[in-house]
Amino acid sequence: MRVGARLGIMGGTFDPIHLGHLVTAEEALVQFNLDRVLFMPTGLPAFKVDDTVTPAEDRYVMTVLATASNPDFDVSRLEVDRPGLTYTVDTLEALRTLYGPTTELFFITGADAVWEIVTWRDAERIADLATFIAVTRPGYDLDAARRSHEEASTRFRIEYIEVPSLAISSTDLRARVRARRPVHYLMPEPVVAYIDKRGLYRELG
Ligand code: ATP
Ligand code: MG
Repeated sequence: MRVGARLGIMGGTFDPIHLGHLVTAEEALVQFNLDRVLFMPTGLPAFKVDDTVTPAEDRYVMTVLATASNPDFDVSRLEVDRPGLTYTVDTLEALRTLYGPTTELFFITGADAVWEIVTWRDAERIADLATFIAVTRPGYDLDAARRSHEEASTRFRIEYIEVPSLAISSTDLRARVRARRPVHYLMPEPVVAYIDKRGLYRELG
């Protein structure tokens, strides 16, 4: 990438990826003048170890299918290929090494998740590596989040963006597939087809 490039990183389990994720990435791209958004499906996700998570390879393929038509979107295998738990700090450091010191990293995440990160181990190192773009979801109190950020006075750079209220979640989509309720127009059509082809989410997971 060019010197001084601005790289967005959209991390997620993407089990499955849906329009909420894609709208969010597009909104971040435009609002923060990013050169590219890198979708980063988790390997073995740190916060979902108790759940049954779909194999990383299926989640990776769905992410590729969902983003293939957008020249500003890319998918990284970094976490998928890394065995064991992946910590955000390790991913950000790997990206820093990969793209060099002049590339600015923007970590896009739900505003709900950003507060977990601030309290993580290695929070200080994370704060040095990336700016956070915190995305608000339906029903989220944006002003309260901004206020508590100021009160906490961390070194974290957190920018808040609002996306059109998309009450879409992977949890709901998995439940819909299982109950054979409609999922069209909530995910890109190739993802719907892939879920059907592989028989994903039919069993209680
Ligand atoms: P689950 O229901 O299993 O928690 P999810 O729909 O939240 O899944 P994740 O893969 O956990 O999907 O989310 C990846 C990132 O996208 C997170 O930062 C999350 O906050 C954000 N996100 C998820 N759904 C939406 C949505 N509808 N609009 C905006 N951001 C979203
Ligand atoms: Mg989630």
